[in-house]
This record gives sequence, C-alpha cells and structure tokens, in this order.
Amino acid sequence: MSAADKNDTMKTSKQSVSCADFQDQLPDIFESGVALSEQEHLQTCEQCAALVRDLEYIAQQAKLLQIVEDFRRQSHAEADLAALGRLAAEGRR
Ligand SMILES: [Zn+2]
Repeated sequence: MSAADKNDTMKTSKQSVSCADFQDQLPDIFESGVALSEQEHLQTCEQCAALVRDLEYIAQQAKLLQIVEDFRRQSHAEADLAALGRLAAEGRR
C-alpha cells in the first residue's frame, strides 16, 4: 500500500469536523441556542446525532424538573395544574 492510497481513504471522509471536536463544541452549541438540526456534522454522523438526541432528552427532563421546582417554590399552596401547565409552556419557548 502506498502513501497515496492512504491519503485517498482520508479524503473520502466528508466530515469536516471530527467527532471529538464536535462534542467539544456541543456545550457551546447548546448554550448559544443554535438549531442543532443545522449542524452539518449531525447530518453526516449518526453516532453524534444519537448522542445529541440523548442530551436533548436529558436537557428537556432537567428543564421540566426545574420548572416544577420553581413552581413549588412560588406556590406553597396546593398545586394548580393549570398554572403549572402555563409555566411548562413558557419554559418550552
Ligand atoms: Zn460524530
């Protein structure tokens, strides 16, 4: 095998960003609010796409927990489900 063959193999990869680089940027991407669906790497890498889906799920759960927690702090009276629903809707924006 020649060195040229090796270079060819590397060039066939369309990914401009490596998985490690992309995952390094993930916290910034999440924080900036940029649409993850527009991330080029996710369209070419199923591994990272799956990771992001997991992270989004966890983030959603964490956000929901935070909303419930905020609601509990604000209202020491009995739970008002309608108000909780409004808070959840606001949190989703
Ligand atoms: Zn990747």
